[in-house]
Amino acid sequence: MLSPSARFSALALLAIVAPAAIVAVIGYVSIRQWESSSELLYREQARDMATMAAEKVEMTLRRAEDGFLDRLQAVLRTEASPGRAVDALLAESPLVRRLYLVGRRGELVYPRAWRDGDAAVFGPLVTEREQAKLERSGRRVVIQEDQISLALLTQKNGEPVLAAFARDAETLRREILETALGTLESPTILAVLDRDGRTVYSRAPIGNAPSLLSVQFRDVLPDWRLAVYQTPGASPRQAVRRQAMFFTAALGVLVAVIVAGIVATWRLMRRETEMARLKSDFVANVSHDLKTPLSVIRMFGETLEMGRVTDEARRQEYYRVITREGERLTRLIDNVLDFSRIEGGRQTYETAPTPIEPLVRGTLEAFAYPLAQQGFKVEVSVAPDLPDVALDADAVGQALANLIDNAIKYSADERLLAVDVRVADERLVIAVTDRGLGIAPEEQARIFEKFYRVGRSDTQGRRGSGVGLALVRHIAEAHGGDVTVESAPGRGSRFALRLPLERS
Ligand code: ADP
Repeated sequence: MLSPSARFSALALLAIVAPAAIVAVIGYVSIRQWESSSELLYREQARDMATMAAEKVEMTLRRAEDGFLDRLQAVLRTEASPGRAVDALLAESPLVRRLYLVGRRGELVYPRAWRDGDAAVFGPLVTEREQAKLERSGRRVVIQEDQISLALLTQKNGEPVLAAFARDAETLRREILETALGTLESPTILAVLDRDGRTVYSRAPIGNAPSLLSVQFRDVLPDWRLAVYQTPGASPRQAVRRQAMFFTAALGVLVAVIVAGIVATWRLMRRETEMARLKSDFVANVSHDLKTPLSVIRMFGETLEMGRVTDEARRQEYYRVITREGERLTRLIDNVLDFSRIEGGRQTYETAPTPIEPLVRGTLEAFAYPLAQQGFKVEVSVAPDLPDVALDADAVGQALANLIDNAIKYSADERLLAVDVRVADERLVIAVTDRGLGIAPEEQARIFEKFYRVGRSDTQGRRGSGVGLALVRHIAEAHGGDVTVESAPGRGSRFALRLPLERS
């Protein structure tokens, strides 16, 4: 059968461990789901972002080029020989490089001649056939390989003219890509790659950031791609892991705190149960302790009262028994009263310089009868020339009496009581030695606790209240000293009351 406190702890642990385990399992499963769905969501968002960014780039580029073409068209409509005006327009359009205007029959309208190797590059694009194709399909196209833009315009004389130009790479990067992408809010790294996969522009250093996806630009930047890279440490998986770790740690701390609380409560309950048990034992023990001398006194008193004892010597003996038992009763009651005063914080001690030898011998005197009757060999050794010591004589006498009482009570076959009084290490040491039952080492620290008594089998049924040694220790400490014990089961014990000679 489990004790109430053990039952409480088992239940409490179960009440914590079971829900914690369920929370952990649910947490694990939902984190896995969370991980995969957030990964999916992250990719979708990245794709949306990439499409939007690509559209923005194309729109910016188209707007810039259309703006240039509109202005060029305006020039061509007004100027019969537009050379100078086109020069001026080009000077303020850094995006446009290598502009050629070619007439219907392939004649060069602007500039006067092909530059460098441009005839080879532009030549095949501006043939009559190509122009006719363009007339059918629309106003502008971008030729993939060299990113050359073609647009069909009209001259002042109403004749169509083909404008062909290339883009300036640096201006494209700085004015189009950076303007379009630089201001986009995105947790990822956006980059523009050319048809060979070279990075033309990237918003942040790519380093070895993992590539997420890429989308193709449409007609304005054919074959180029907008790529999305993952910012290091910002993947949803990592974010979820971090959250999961945080939650796990928080859950762990919570469980640890709760378990610590349960353990503390369990300890408290155990101590309280033990205290309650000790207290109820104490009441039973004290009652029994009081009853024994009382019944002896009553019995001897009644016998004397009835006048049945005629022998004077026996009568004297009966009187002595009554006196001794009365003294024992007083001692017991004093112990309990002093103990309750100590517990209530009301006990005070009055110290006065006290000669030690009379105090020791006087206290022993009270035990002369039981010692003689039980056949004790008494050895008293008091060092000569002991100084007077400032102490509360009643309290120290009571402490010594408790030690002597115990030595008698817990005696065994060899009945010896040795009281040794001397000065050692600046302290007065009053030692009481017996050859009695002795005390097991693990009990030696506890016997000075209030109500504590060694198990009945070890004390062979001897009765006591369990406050005697608690009182001795209190008295010793109140005098600035202490009480020690040396003992071995079956060999006997030596209790030493050590009091400072001078109170500091
Ligand atoms: P009690 O009223 O039980 O004697 P004490 O506080 O005086 O209470 O002692 C506490 C316990 O210490 C006792 O129950 C006993 O087991 C043990 N004890 C005390 N003195 C001795 C001794 N001289 N020899 C053996 N055991 C002792």
